[in-house]
Amino acid sequence: MKYIRKSIQELKEYTVPQDKYEVKLNQNESPYDVPEDLKEEISKRIMDADWNRYPSRTAIPLVEALSGYTNFPAKGIVAANASNEVIQGVFQTICDAGDKLIAISPGFAIYPYLSKIMDLNLIEVPLLEDFSFDVPEIIKEGRDAKMVILALPNNPTGTTIPIEEIAEIAQNINGIFVVDEAYFEFSKKTAISLLDKYDNIIIIRTLSKAFGLAGLRLGYLLTNENIAGAVQKAKLPFSVGILGQIAGEIVLNKKEYIYDVVKKILDEKEKVFSELKQIPTIKPVPSSTNFILFKTQNVPGKELFDEMYRRGVLLRFFNTPRLKNTLRVTIGKPDQNEIFLKTLKEVLQDEKS
Ligand code: PMP
Repeated sequence: MKYIRKSIQELKEYTVPQDKYEVKLNQNESPYDVPEDLKEEISKRIMDADWNRYPSRTAIPLVEALSGYTNFPAKGIVAANASNEVIQGVFQTICDAGDKLIAISPGFAIYPYLSKIMDLNLIEVPLLEDFSFDVPEIIKEGRDAKMVILALPNNPTGTTIPIEEIAEIAQNINGIFVVDEAYFEFSKKTAISLLDKYDNIIIIRTLSKAFGLAGLRLGYLLTNENIAGAVQKAKLPFSVGILGQIAGEIVLNKKEYIYDVVKKILDEKEKVFSELKQIPTIKPVPSSTNFILFKTQNVPGKELFDEMYRRGVLLRFFNTPRLKNTLRVTIGKPDQNEIFLKTLKEVLQDEKS
């Protein structure tokens, strides 16, 4: 181990169970695969592509398609190998070792993970008891920070803040404000309109959720031309291969399929939420995403997770003190959601008796 940096030796590996489960509701994926006709069109274009040639370095046709989808100028867009890579590129563009970074807790695990890899000085502002945001505290801590990063809506809580508070944070800090909009298609709220007004905002998005492309790895950022150019320089070249570039371009230009996907998922979320609310020992957190966090009152979260897993339903458990009685369920197809609710009720009943 003597060759390995101390931070990496200390780093806890990022792991999520990825078992092929019938009822797999643990990674906030879309339960709906890309439509067959689009997969065929993508496959045909891939067959015709030159695999021996490097892909476009800046993924020009893909970026043009992203520009059409977001209605935002291509010069302010950087495409990457999913949003995790965008986040890494932004960290490497903005932060030096020791710099102060503000995130929230509980929040998305990749931020502390990257922060550790880069030896940043991470301050996590706790969410309030109901998992809403402590904006005054974020501003107070963020004032002299190099960067503030928030997922809006937040993972794993599904909670968010209104656009006025996003503007207030951008206005009152001196560094960069990264707004991770991974769940934008579900929340339907975006900070894009603030990009004209504030030169310190970077919006990060992904095609892993509503578009159903988690396996292909495509993400992007939206910001001003200067920051976009800097991130493009810092990011390793050619990280989006021809498969991703072609698939992304095609799905974005035929985006209509996601309207139906998003509608089905949001309708199901309402149903699951109201059913969870009716269970006396379960407290679901209202969510602007495709998942729901819920607290359990009688059964410890880990016990409930294990028992649900044993009965075929894979959920997400977070091994932290704040979330020890809390699980997260991703909204699946209607039959999967039904199995989830039925199994949950059975387990809670069995635990009681
Ligand atoms: N940001 C947030 C808030 C997320 O929840 C996720 C996925 N869990 C990501 C980014 C990363 O997504 P991807 O790397 O697949 O684009």
